[in-house]
Amino acid sequence: MLLRNGLVSGRRQDVAIRDDRIERIGRDLAGAWGETLDVTDRLVLPGFVESHIHPDKAFIADRTEGLRAGGPSAQILVAELKKAFTVDDVYRRARRVLELAVRHGTTTMRAHVELDAFVETRSLEAMRRLQRDLAGALDLHLIAFAQEGIFNDPVTQDLLREALQSGVPTLGGCPYMDKDQRAHIDWFFETAQAFGVALDFHADSSDDPAMLTSDYIAEQTIAYDMQGRVTLGHLGTLDALEPAHRARVIDKLREARIHVISLPATEFHVKGRGAARYAWRGVTRLGELRDAGVNVAISTNNIANPFTPYGHPDPLRQALVAAMAAHLGNLDQLAWLLDLVTVNAARAIGLHDYGVAEGCRADLVVLDARTPADAITEQVEKLWVIKGGRVVARNTRTSELRIPREPDRSSGD
Ligand SMILES: [Zn+2]
Repeated sequence: MLLRNGLVSGRRQDVAIRDDRIERIGRDLAGAWGETLDVTDRLVLPGFVESHIHPDKAFIADRTEGLRAGGPSAQILVAELKKAFTVDDVYRRARRVLELAVRHGTTTMRAHVELDAFVETRSLEAMRRLQRDLAGALDLHLIAFAQEGIFNDPVTQDLLREALQSGVPTLGGCPYMDKDQRAHIDWFFETAQAFGVALDFHADSSDDPAMLTSDYIAEQTIAYDMQGRVTLGHLGTLDALEPAHRARVIDKLREARIHVISLPATEFHVKGRGAARYAWRGVTRLGELRDAGVNVAISTNNIANPFTPYGHPDPLRQALVAAMAAHLGNLDQLAWLLDLVTVNAARAIGLHDYGVAEGCRADLVVLDARTPADAITEQVEKLWVIKGGRVVARNTRTSELRIPREPDRSSGD
């Protein structure tokens, strides 16, 4: 396949694909290529990566009243609902998420799968079936995730260990769901080391500095020699620290090579609801983290559930939300913001051979824009989505403007 005249690294170039790899990139490539796509002056990016997302509890907003003043938390609402999840129910809802993700340009996704006394292994079974059924369209990586904590029922620890034993490559913790956050974190490091798997934590979701755990997680990452293999989602507490304290924590995160994944749409919906005056918005300090050399990404997190009723698996939308949430709207910032759903996210989940470069996997998205700033600002269409050298989605948008043309003033009157 040949992508003709696309914008790669700011220059007009062709991208030639053989089988599932990018074979050559350059001007006016000659040779016999199969299908040719005219992508003249359109942005060619590596496929989007959703690095933190929950398809197993998507599309259940219509089963609950959602968050209300004085009402139950999103965790409690979902815990109640998931008792009734069946394998087929999870499969159908999650499949809808995955199909939408492909439509929106995502070629790799790392999904949290909950294992606990409420849902047992039903979500895992459904997600494994999806992994097989959608192979070729989307790479689906799984995380064995303890949304309910590990000290609140007698089965979660065993379920997590069994999932790792059966090949799930990442273990997901949630310290703030247990009373003793440090004991929770210790169990996850010990278990990750025993099974040789990567770690992901939902961490520091509170505006109370006393609840901070990311500094301890960074220390343990170094102690267990897991630098570069630990990701943290949320980290909103960073925003509530005194500046000097925040700078020390960010230093530790960099030293431990922790990857930070911000989930701005969920923070906007959930955080600061009890505030009498200023409503804390709960989004981590993306710009400061990046400036300090920490690898930062953003992801969709929740889709149409009590955590984010308007959630939708569109990384381009998350880029706009992040621009608004984290003061990243200047043109120089918009220029790198798409890295947070492409190269940075890929790095966070340990992808290799990723990028628009010769030899990389031919996982690409072509945007109807010349620059990242235009793509984000105008929320442009993802014209082509290519997975492993094959077109998996083609999107078009039409619009007809029925207004008078601009008058011709060149003749002068
Ligand atoms: Zn999450």
